[in-house]
Amino acid sequence: MTHSPTQPPSATRSLALMYHAIAGPGGSDAAQDPHYTVSAAHFAAQLDTLQRAGAVTSVRDWLAAPRPATLLTFDDGHASNHTLAWPMLLERGMRADFFVNPGKVGQAGLANWSQLREMAASGMSIQSHGWNHRYFTELDARALREDLLRSRLSIEERIGAAVTLLAPPGGRMPAHLPAIARECGYRHVLSSAPGHLVIGATGALPRMSVTAALDLATLEGWLAGHGIARARLRYGVLGVAKRALGDRRYERWRARLLGQGEAVQ
Ligand SMILES: [Zn+2]
Repeated sequence: MTHSPTQPPSATRSLALMYHAIAGPGGSDAAQDPHYTVSAAHFAAQLDTLQRAGAVTSVRDWLAAPRPATLLTFDDGHASNHTLAWPMLLERGMRADFFVNPGKVGQAGLANWSQLREMAASGMSIQSHGWNHRYFTELDARALREDLLRSRLSIEERIGAAVTLLAPPGGRMPAHLPAIARECGYRHVLSSAPGHLVIGATGALPRMSVTAALDLATLEGWLAGHGIARARLRYGVLGVAKRALGDRRYERWRARLLGQGEAVQ
């Protein structure tokens, strides 16, 4: 791999991590998918590992001042993002982006608006995960436009800060998404496809999905640039299955494969 003189090799090592729920000592609740739920103890150890490796911040702040860093993102707006993750981030002086569905905020197991406002006031970034978690591949262009506009405006009104980032539910990205997202006021789309973040690169920003099974050795490997290609390959295989089976059948197939109930991402 070659690097241009303006881009030191370390710049390619910026990574965005995608978290979902965090589970306390009592275990995960019904709103949490166990496959994607990280225990508070593991989460603390992961944050400490990241802190030793270098800068840790939100995608929003990184885009404003790009530098080699690990970026923290959370999807779905779980209540545990506020009760468990947020205090642990504050303790370490870290920031993160929280991608929420305004149509679901405050429902059982999810953070409410006053909690999200509290997080935003402390420097956290609250961004859009679509209106109510409908997959964008299930919406026609008109419905997609409505979903993207409504979710952005609703979060901006409730939080009082600009929403510029969009993380599509389930990582589903129809071909017309980038153009419609731009039209609806978003500056960047974050995918669920694994990969490094390259400063100045165009297109969807890749993220590494953190699952319950992630161990510190694998995380350290990612930071050193190892295992990314393998993760991309696995993601590609799952993408083929998604397209071949369709979203609904894919979810059932994945749930059976993982040996658990209905799995959502
Ligand atoms: Zn989601």
